[in-house]
Formats: sequence, C-alpha cells, structure tokens
Amino acid sequence: MFGGSFDPPHSAHVALARAAVTQLQLDVLLIVPTGQAWYKERALSAPEHRLAMSQLAFDGLEGVQVDARELQRPGPSFTIDTLEALQAENPGAQLYLIMGKDQFAAIKSWHRWQDLVRIAIICIAERAGPARTEAVFDPQIQLSHPLVPLQLPLMPVSATDIRRQIMSGAATPQDLARLVPEPVARYIERHRLYIPA
Ligand code: ATP
Repeated sequence: MFGGSFDPPHSAHVALARAAVTQLQLDVLLIVPTGQAWYKERALSAPEHRLAMSQLAFDGLEGVQVDARELQRPGPSFTIDTLEALQAENPGAQLYLIMGKDQFAAIKSWHRWQDLVRIAIICIAERAGPARTEAVFDPQIQLSHPLVPLQLPLMPVSATDIRRQIMSGAATPQDLARLVPEPVARYIERHRLYIPA
C-alpha cells in the first residue's frame, strides 16, 4: 500500500511506486489517495480530482492499482483501518506500507502506529529537501520492527511546491510537464486546479 494525498501526484510518487514494485517484487501495489488527513492543515482538493489524477498518474504502471476506499470512507481516515481491511481481504498475504522518510519520521503520531508497524513491513524512501517535520527518526522503531529501505535517487519535488508554483503563475506548462506525469499536467490545466478563484 502506498498512501498519500496525491494533490497532485508527481514524478517522485511515480518513481517511488515503480521502485517499490520492482525492489519488493510485489504482487500488487495499491495506491490509496487519503481522505482529508487529520494532520494536514490545508483543505485538500476534491476527492474526485485527486482520484482522477491518481488514475492518470499510476494506472498504466504494471502491478499498480488505484484504490479509492479512503476517499469513500466517511469521517477521519486512518491507514491502519485500510491495512486491516486489506489483511482481512487477503489472508496470509504479507503487507508492505510504502512511504517517504518525512512520513516515517512522524509515524509515532499516527493512529495505532504500534499495530501498523506490526501488520505491515514499512518501506522507506529517502526524501530530498529541508526537513518537513519536527519529528525525528526514532532508531528504536528500526530495532524492534523490520524496516526496508527503498533505493530511489533523491528527487527534490513536492506537491506543496508544485501547488505554489501554479498558484503564483511561476510554473509554465513545460515546467508542469516535468514535475507531474503529462496527463496529470493536462488535467490540472483543464480543471484550473490550484489557481486562486
Ligand atoms: P505535500 O507537499 O502536499 O505534503 P507530498 O509531495 O509530500 O505532498 P504526498 O501525497 O503527501 O506528497 O506524499 C505521499 C507519499 O509520498 C509520502 O509518503 C511522501 O513521503 C512520499 N513522497 C512525496 N514526495 C516524495 C519525494 N520527492 N521523495 C520521496 N518520497 C516522497
């Protein structure tokens, strides 16, 4: 499982998904756009836009499927609920949870994180750029649970930065096409996403 707000999905997300399928030899990688995460201060773009962009970004990748369940779930959406549902649907399967290191650094703030690290193997990609959280990587977690590093070149791209560039008018269509998959760039332009009303 690879969860994210995907607002919008960008080139590092796609590279991470490819790396995970190959390096972990996954049967399937589920891309799970999150509902409004309790810890994100800003309102996310509408679920239908994030789902459509995720499908455009990931659907062509071998072994990858977009799963809309968290977008359809009313109320707060927790990763552990999705992992438990996946465990029930796939008895005996080994679950992996894919994330960037910024997310892992804050994992102790996640709902029922102890259960989460017990039922899924956490796979972590390094993340370029300044620290995105005050939380520090806790080596204790590393000692008591299996953690798998994912090999991925550092990619200094973030959805926040992409939204800012579009909002300020700094991103040309060519810039955008470098930062996000091309069909996602076209979708953003067609729906005028991230442009102040
Ligand atoms: P935002 O800037 O809005 O917080 P984001 O770029 O971090 O967005 P998310 O959808 O929140 O994107 O991220 C989903 C997952 O992808 C997270 O686990 C995050 O750590 C990881 N990720 C995002 N960008 C990168 C990157 N450049 N390198 C490695 N991992 C990344």
